[in-house]
Amino acid sequence: MLGLSNPDDGDWARLRGLQYSHLATVSVPRLLAHLIAAVIVAWTYFGAVDPLMLGGWVLALGGTLYYGARFDRSLGDADRRRMTRGEVATHTISSAITALLWVAPIVFFVPHGLPHDRMTLWTVLAMLLTGSAVAFAAVPLGIIVFSVIVGGAAIASFVLTGDYPMALVVVAYLGIIALGVTQAARTYLAAKVAESNVVEKSEVVSLLLREFEEGDADWLWQIDTSRRVRSVSPRFAFALGLDPEDIGGKPFLQLIAGAAWETGQFHTSLHDLAERIKRRENFSNLLVRVTVQDQNRWWELSGTPKLDENGVFDGFRGVGSDVTEQRESAEKIAYLARYDTLTGLPNRLMLTESLGDAMRYADQWRTRCAFLMIDLDRFKAVNDTLGHLVGDQLLELVSERLKRLITDNELVGRLGGDEFAIVIKDASDATRVSAVAQNVIDSLSAPYEVDHHTLFVGASVGSALGPRDGATVETLMRSADLALYRSKDEGGGKHFSYEPALHAHAEERRKLEFSLRRALERNEFTVHYQPVVDAREEGIVSFEALLRWNSEDHGSVSPAKFIPLAEDTRLIVPIGEWVLREACREAVRWPEHVKVAVNVSGEQLLDSNFAATVVGALSGSGLPPNRLEIEVTESIFVRDGTTAQHTLEQLMALGCGIALDDFGTGYSSLGYLRKIRFSTIKVDRSFVQGAAKKSAESLAIIRAVVAMADSLEMTTTAEGVETEHELEVVRNLGCTKIQGFYFGRPMPAAEARQLFPPLDLQRGAA
Ligand code: C2E
Ligand code: MG
Ligand code: MG
Repeated sequence: MLGLSNPDDGDWARLRGLQYSHLATVSVPRLLAHLIAAVIVAWTYFGAVDPLMLGGWVLALGGTLYYGARFDRSLGDADRRRMTRGEVATHTISSAITALLWVAPIVFFVPHGLPHDRMTLWTVLAMLLTGSAVAFAAVPLGIIVFSVIVGGAAIASFVLTGDYPMALVVVAYLGIIALGVTQAARTYLAAKVAESNVVEKSEVVSLLLREFEEGDADWLWQIDTSRRVRSVSPRFAFALGLDPEDIGGKPFLQLIAGAAWETGQFHTSLHDLAERIKRRENFSNLLVRVTVQDQNRWWELSGTPKLDENGVFDGFRGVGSDVTEQRESAEKIAYLARYDTLTGLPNRLMLTESLGDAMRYADQWRTRCAFLMIDLDRFKAVNDTLGHLVGDQLLELVSERLKRLITDNELVGRLGGDEFAIVIKDASDATRVSAVAQNVIDSLSAPYEVDHHTLFVGASVGSALGPRDGATVETLMRSADLALYRSKDEGGGKHFSYEPALHAHAEERRKLEFSLRRALERNEFTVHYQPVVDAREEGIVSFEALLRWNSEDHGSVSPAKFIPLAEDTRLIVPIGEWVLREACREAVRWPEHVKVAVNVSGEQLLDSNFAATVVGALSGSGLPPNRLEIEVTESIFVRDGTTAQHTLEQLMALGCGIALDDFGTGYSSLGYLRKIRFSTIKVDRSFVQGAAKKSAESLAIIRAVVAMADSLEMTTTAEGVETEHELEVVRNLGCTKIQGFYFGRPMPAAEARQLFPPLDLQRGAA
């Protein structure tokens, strides 16, 4: 406590530091207290003592105190370092000198002054002693030295003058001071020691707590100064797959480095660990790849350098856990986030990222990059008819072929569904883009063998060049998408590059679609009726219901424009249902022998409710089924023909007629005629025109159709007859019915009704 000896156990130098660091905080108050005391004493003996002597004394005291205060301040950091014995001695000597300077007034001033002044002096000294005892409890040695010298002089002075009671008072006083100071110093020191122990302990506690908090995976590890494993915990041994006895004393790195220990070719993370241990650095959650039982595993290690009681480096201790599983799943997640699981190709995310890179590259080198969007033609049919398993296998084959087509300059990936894409990093060679596109189309159009099926799918490609066709990844992708849309529109199997007009087109389409969605509820549709007459008698046998849209936003829009849009968006289902009800309601007002023909899209036939819709329209209007004819085109057989055929058979069973519209424009396969017993075949206007111009091909087709229809007991309608000449030609070719502007344009319902004599209408309505 006094610091006179250094016991063997414990880091006493540090304890001294803790004691003496306190001095720095009280050095200035101490200086002031002494100076005030000195002034009071000088004032008391002013006049009685030689002023020179008084001044010299004050100066000597001030100087000593100033030096002492400076030294005390230099001990401010002593709690963080060790106090040397020299420093302890310096402080003690400075206390002793100060004490001797206070003895001077007792020896030299008192004989010159009044007895009363001696009491003043003693009171001042007593105050100083008390003050020091309270303020410097941390450093008892200094105070005791000071008290003994000053107190001793005072006692001597009282004894010499025969003032024994006063001498006894001073003795008692000194005793009390000594007792109080040692008591306070003990308490102070104990508190400081406890404080520094708490800090050290809390480190250990937090390490231990982690071990329990984070579950079974964590363990404690400890190594000594030569990096050998010490106090092996069973869990640590388990993590190493070894017995605790086999581990103790082995070099830590040898245990976890596996074969690398011999070769010296450590994993970088092991290097990092070794380096930190060497530098005696703290580390936490350091990810280290270790080799345990010939297996690579990932450990997360934290460690703190350990110090012995004397503060000397004594090795490391810390916690560790095996994070191999978490890490592997993190890697897997990173992979899954960028690759498509079915085909193993890069997915949309990676494609967009690499397109972003390509655009930056193009920007930097003033070149161009390209984005190609690929969509399979007729893939939906494969999926619908043969099932998803076959569809998936087909997609795998497609991606195999795509992978073979690309070079290092390109990246191919799957955007989703049957959509793929290629990023061409450097597309400064414009022919490369069309070459890649053409290769894709050719390669993907070759037949596929899946599950004993030979499958034919084609591919459509749309491409856009960056930054010309889009400055950002999104706009460039959108441009390629528009170009792809265009090639789909053109029937597929083609490559189109983006051009600005496509954008305008798409924008217009978007607006049109927006209005179309509201057309039904805004009552913008009407149905017009075009008469169909008997080729011989020229009497009206039926009307074809033709939809008209007078849009508030776009004016009157041609069916050729909005019907395909309605089909794409499946809006044709509710719209078609409305047309059907409207046409049936109108037809009941016509004479009984006049039928109504309603156009129906493939999309409607695929709707499972379609037959029910027809029954609803018929029963709602009271129109007999045989007065309704459904017009379909060949296209319905291309997409999922069986469902459409099934629906049509249901309608025929009801008694409705089925007409094959626009015959000759599509696939022109007479085979379709055998699939369904059509009631009517409508020969497209182009053949009528051709025949009128004596085109041999048109004539041959019309003749063949008529002959076939006759033999199958179907009727034939010549469409688009505009002139008397055309009428003559088709009549002579044997068509049974005629439709066209020559006999009447599509007209509003009221106008159509007026074509019948009032008597006929009454009978029809009855
Ligand atoms: P479509 O079924 O072949 O209808 C005949 C088209 O030929 C009608 O065109 C008609 O106005 C036109 N046309 C008739 N006679 C002549 C003529 O002598 N000369 C010329 N140049 N044209 C003639 P529209 O009304 O524009 O309809 C076009 C197509 O829209 C229709 O072809 C039909 O496929 C479709 N469509 C019309 N209404 C509906 C409907 O309610 N539902 C469905 N799904 N499609 C419809
Ligand atoms: Mg039609
Ligand atoms: Mg037609």
